[in-house]
Amino acid sequence: MIIDMDIRHSFASTSSYAQHYARRCGRAVDEALHSTQAYQAWRKFDAGPRSSVFSRLAALSALTKHDLRTHGPQGFVPHGRDIAEGLAAGEIELVATSGTTGDQVTNVWYQPWWNASEAASWQLNAHARGAATGEHREAILTSPWCTGFPCEDGLLTMEQRTMGRFLYLSERSDPSCWTISMMDRMADELRRFRPAVLEANPSFLARLSRHIVHRQLPVYSPALIILTYENPSVLHLRQIRRAFESPVASSYGSTEAGYVFMECQAGWMHQVTEACHVDFLPFAPEHGGPEVGRILVTTFDNPWRSLVRFDTGDVVRLDGRKPCPCGRHAGLTLTSVEGRTANLTLTPEGRAVTQGAVDLALGDVTGLVEYQLLQTGPTAYNLRFVAEGASPRLVAGEACEVMQAVYGPAAVITAAALEAIAPDPPGKYRLAKSLAPVNADALLDDRFAPRMY
Ligand SMILES: [Zn+2]
Repeated sequence: MIIDMDIRHSFASTSSYAQHYARRCGRAVDEALHSTQAYQAWRKFDAGPRSSVFSRLAALSALTKHDLRTHGPQGFVPHGRDIAEGLAAGEIELVATSGTTGDQVTNVWYQPWWNASEAASWQLNAHARGAATGEHREAILTSPWCTGFPCEDGLLTMEQRTMGRFLYLSERSDPSCWTISMMDRMADELRRFRPAVLEANPSFLARLSRHIVHRQLPVYSPALIILTYENPSVLHLRQIRRAFESPVASSYGSTEAGYVFMECQAGWMHQVTEACHVDFLPFAPEHGGPEVGRILVTTFDNPWRSLVRFDTGDVVRLDGRKPCPCGRHAGLTLTSVEGRTANLTLTPEGRAVTQGAVDLALGDVTGLVEYQLLQTGPTAYNLRFVAEGASPRLVAGEACEVMQAVYGPAAVITAAALEAIAPDPPGKYRLAKSLAPVNADALLDDRFAPRMY
């Protein structure tokens, strides 16, 4: 028997899509392969227009941040458009992502495309459809280094942090250093500004929420809270819901790929099929597959950047083919974004554990309000945590017990109580990580792994 090891399977062919969707995918692939310099080396693997577009995509490589840096922004501009001319005409800007130095990418920023992708994401949530018009007032609580007005010494006035319909609530990137008066000011400004939408880093808003509850401050609840920039922890969500009456929805995307998934009012994450295609690469069964895996994003109709099978570095969990109560079924549906590949840890036996699995296990520990789990060796794990309203010793005991259940009897788990946990630059919490990075390529089911060349 001859086994063709080169057949790569695609999850996408079993999903449901609107009629024009496959055509848009085909256009994105053709534009990349035939009109965009960076994809020249991919052409020889194209199965051609007689194959289904999902098979064509599955036969191609994955696009990494390393590729984006190698070819530079001009390498991904289709049809010979010139970045210098676009910049001179004021049509586009160049924006560097705020990753670590080795991770930074310069992106061509074309605002109309970004706005269209954001507006498409709002259609997937009933509350967002009502509250977000594109003209609505919006308060933003995130690291000012991601968006806003950074000022790490001294304070800025409300006017200095307001731009049109947007109010940036914090000029500081480290919530562990926020003072009582700064958080009082944020709650007060929310009451005065009365935004329709509050967009926030979940860890930042959780810090403010604990303060509001602790001080029994009067609170203004906007029509919708959208969580973005980070993966919300079960703990963060609970703290936010204790302070605000607003519905909460998680929005998932990236500077490179735009808006990719949006949480509906029933709590599931739906693919923004108007803006992008998503290929799902399941992990091998011993690592949580086929329901857990990685994603590659192909964007539609950005005249200034052709992005095909871009590896966002995230790990997601599929819906298990159960229909969402909201009735949407187009594209991929997720029960959760499980964190980034950089947040993966391994059991002593070498099985992958996602940040989401760690978070779910720690979610019910009484008195635990913040944590960071660090794998320091093949069998060694250290949990740094913040406790409130419970003895740190009791919190440590219960937390270590649930972590032992996750990592198994061979794991050596230690815990240390802290006053606060600071985010990593530029202002994102890492709930779990390993000192020795996990090779996320080695976790994939071979049949779906992208071609390497
Ligand atoms: Zn839904």
